[in-house]
Parts: sequence; structure tokens; C-alpha cells
Amino acid sequence: MLHLDEIGNPTSHFIEHLKGYVNYVIFEERGELTLLDLLKKLKEDSDVRDVKNLAYYSNGKLFLNPREKEDGDINRSFLRWDTLSTDITNGIGYALSSQGCAYRCKFCSFHLLVKEVNYREIDSLKEEMRLMAKSGSIETVVFNDDNLA
Ligand code: SF4
Repeated sequence: MLHLDEIGNPTSHFIEHLKGYVNYVIFEERGELTLLDLLKKLKEDSDVRDVKNLAYYSNGKLFLNPREKEDGDINRSFLRWDTLSTDITNGIGYALSSQGCAYRCKFCSFHLLVKEVNYREIDSLKEEMRLMAKSGSIETVVFNDDNLA
């Protein structure tokens, strides 16, 4: 099991403050595969102790499962916007052209969780924009990049 210090103080305090409000917190640079693993376990009603990169409370005690870097590909991790209705998207598409922060502010633990800056390939981004356009329901695109200000 991880110690709280290993994920940085701001993040560990954040997780501690979530006690009673959320069941699980994923702490991984990407998180999609961890989420998939968690959902499978919950669907099977099986133990989440072997789901990497997961924090959770059990009987009031915080557990931090071991970390393991995901193999996810930032160029392939985007939604099939063309399959989502306006009821789900509310007309807004969220895109990410990069992930990670190049700075190392002392009060922030984001760079401890996301250690590298990764940029998506332009073709991948164009494909996502095409799917949004094809959906017919996306009216606004919001870029959620860590590096856009
Ligand atoms: S620039 Fe922002 S995200 Fe990056 S380390 Fe500083 S506070 Fe954190």
C-alpha cells in the first residue's frame, strides 16, 4: 500500500477531504484504464484491492493501492462523440490536445501525478473534431488542456 506522502501533500489532503463524499479516487496520469478496471470490478461485485492507482475508504480507513503507470495512448483516448446525444453532451464537446504541466510550483502536486507533458498528434485531434461535427449535437468545443491559458 502507498503512503500518502508518495502522491504529494496537496493531493493527499484533497483525498482526505473527500472522505464521506466520494467512494473512489483515481490518481494516475491518464486514468482511463484504471477507471475501466474499477468499473469491471464493481460490475462483477469483486474486490477493488488489486485495482492500481486507486484510493478509497473502507470502514472509515483510507486505502491507497499501489501505483502503476498506464499504457494508455493519448492519441487514441477520446470519446466517440458521434454516438452521444445532446441529452448527454448538452451540446458541448471537451477536447484535450495536451496533458501535463511543464512547471513545478511548490504548492501544487499536479506535476507529481502527471510527470510529463504529452501532446496529441494533429491527426488524432482532427479525427476527434470530425466526430464532434458528425454528431450534429456539438455546438461548442472546450479545450481542457493543462497548458492552455
Ligand atoms: S503551473 Fe499550475 S498546474 Fe503547473 S505546477 Fe504550477 S500550479 Fe501546478
